[in-house]
Amino acid sequence: MKVFSSPDDMRNVSQSIHREGRTIGLVPTMGFLHEGHLSLIRKARKVADKVIVSIFVNPTQFAPNEDLDKYPRDIERDLKLCSSEKVDFVFLPANDDMYSPHHQTYVRNEVISKILCGKSRPTHFRGVTTIVAKLFNIIDPDFSVFGQKDAQQALIIRNMVRDLNFRTHILVEPIIREKDGLAISSRNKYLTPEQRKQATEIYKNLLYAKEQTENGNLDFNNLKIEIQKNINNLPDCRVDYVEFVEAESLENKFSHGDKVLLAIAVFAGKTRLIDNIILNT
Ligand code: AMP
Repeated sequence: MKVFSSPDDMRNVSQSIHREGRTIGLVPTMGFLHEGHLSLIRKARKVADKVIVSIFVNPTQFAPNEDLDKYPRDIERDLKLCSSEKVDFVFLPANDDMYSPHHQTYVRNEVISKILCGKSRPTHFRGVTTIVAKLFNIIDPDFSVFGQKDAQQALIIRNMVRDLNFRTHILVEPIIREKDGLAISSRNKYLTPEQRKQATEIYKNLLYAKEQTENGNLDFNNLKIEIQKNINNLPDCRVDYVEFVEAESLENKFSHGDKVLLAIAVFAGKTRLIDNIILNT
């Protein structure tokens, strides 16, 4: 496994892989790797000849009041995990490698970046689309693997690929959970034991909604109120949003037979957790 920090070196390697007629699977991450990331790497390993994992805590997707500086990092452990997953290359740029002091250009989704997580994180997705576009330009992956955990992000990236004619094929993999159902996230590390316990209620409420819809209860307004109440009743938790949206467009209107995404964001103490489930109506 080789590690590169320079975009030019990374591009040279990618170009030589393509010259040999081989395909590249890219897994973009912010590091502090866990089973969720590893499931994406395993998917890339299955579909592509060469696997590249990028590790970069992207500053443009953090607002000034967010956790950029204390975002968990453990590069040594990440590299060991990548190596044991038979990753071929790790792209590990420094901030200066990715953003020149004169950086002026951003990629922005102008529609669905404004809803759900975009409401409380108005500059977040602009940072995500910009860094992912840069990675696509540097690496030119045949396949790029993302997690359904960040369902809105995955859709925004799919739309960016369509709108800006990127060549890569986007794959979205299921949410990996802890035994008690909590979606695995690097940010779970911030939770106190009490918050961690309460956070399991998020998935329980997603499952409750799934059970209700499967039993024919499609009264999403009431379900939303019920779920908000359940979570806000937990001493350390506060709902940021609970939304039922059509799973592809993220629009608020849907008709019978549509797939509906139930997306939830919750503050457990100061830590913002997101999770979601697809409901068949
Ligand atoms: P991050 O390092 O948090 O930016 O995440 C990198 C990629 O891993 C994104 O595509 C996430 O959606 C995905 N991911 C994060 N957590 C999980 C999880 N629990 N299950 C599946 N994919 C995940």
